[in-house]
Amino acid sequence: VGTGSVSGMLAEMLAAGINNNTATIASSALHVEEQVLEWFRSMLGLPAGSSGLLVSGGSVANLIGIAVARTAKAGVDTKRMGVRALPQNLVLYCSEETHNSVDKAASLLGLGTDWVRKVPTDDDFRIRVEALEEAIRRDLEEGHRPFCIVGNAGTVGTGATDDLSRLADVAERFGLWLHVDGAIGAVLALSPALCPRVRGIERADSVAFDLHKWMYMPYAVGGVLVRDREAHHRTFASSASYLGQTERGPEADAHRFHEFGLELSRSFGALKVWMLVKEHGVDRYTRLIEQNVGQAAYLAGLVEEHPELELLAPAPLNIVCFRYRGAGIPEERLDAANREILTRLQERGIAVPSGTRVRGRFAIRTAITNHRSRRSDFDLLAESVVAIGREVAAEVSGDI
Ligand SMILES: *Cc1c(COP(=O)(O)O)cnc(C)c1O
Repeated sequence: VGTGSVSGMLAEMLAAGINNNTATIASSALHVEEQVLEWFRSMLGLPAGSSGLLVSGGSVANLIGIAVARTAKAGVDTKRMGVRALPQNLVLYCSEETHNSVDKAASLLGLGTDWVRKVPTDDDFRIRVEALEEAIRRDLEEGHRPFCIVGNAGTVGTGATDDLSRLADVAERFGLWLHVDGAIGAVLALSPALCPRVRGIERADSVAFDLHKWMYMPYAVGGVLVRDREAHHRTFASSASYLGQTERGPEADAHRFHEFGLELSRSFGALKVWMLVKEHGVDRYTRLIEQNVGQAAYLAGLVEEHPELELLAPAPLNIVCFRYRGAGIPEERLDAANREILTRLQERGIAVPSGTRVRGRFAIRTAITNHRSRRSDFDLLAESVVAIGREVAAEVSGDI
């Protein structure tokens, strides 16, 4: 069962009914979006006066954050002259565990993925800060221009969170922009118990967050917040007579969200966010997020207790990567066997985890972002992986 909810459905229906374009016309919809952004700004600890907008999700939020970073740090007016005018290559740094939307942003912004330095991670899949500093120094010596660090609050692969405070220190020391990809983990800031893990996020220059992932909201909605409102506006504002500001009438005091992002016409996505937060309250979201983190720890415990299962990465958040490794399967066939186990789990309708590679090894990846998940679901998952694993092991030894 998915994460749909009655109020989410109602909000989407109401928004479609009003069918309001949140582009240029002053309306209550704009105030709702401003209110929602203000809630998340204060939860994340960014200063009052930061700018932001709701977008379709983490991918677009990362693109916007990195675009503003380019405006602020390029040293050249790339908006007018393009990246050809840059005397040096701009270099972006992030861990090797970073989501591919950062690569997409680098290519779309003309920076080039060759100039995205994928810094190695430690045993907890967190960026190695010394290696990061070394990479920055090397690029400076070679005459390049480091401009941005992307830190992770919850990586897509294993849920690792970089040491954001140390990244903020490094960014400060070298004068770089710090963007935090919090598509998964920014919402940890809500929880008094879990917020220490994302400490430092309040020092970021920009933060991407998702609400359709770990806030269980109807797709598609995420957001981006930027500390430097002026740089944010400068990146996206452009004059056009048909978008002229008027002194009176319906466009007079509209907040011009289109001057802060890619889209002109926009849906009233803020309504579902406002309604759901109002209905459930922050405390309930906090409890559900903590419940999912507890469930991930529970599943990781089941895996560690079972001699035929192997945990492939620590599970600090809501993501558990593991595999079957019963005695019947030789090492070199574990990847293929686990791919087969995953497919059978999915085909039989037992569970639909995803697959990924962790340090080169194929893993069954369970990302828990459902308020309806119960511990018994994870008992069933672990038992089924063992049962199917034994089946596959028997077939593997049969064909040797
Ligand atoms: C999912 C994800 C994204 C992309 O977010 P979308 O909402 O799917 O566009 C970016 N970064 C991380 C870490 C993610 O997990």
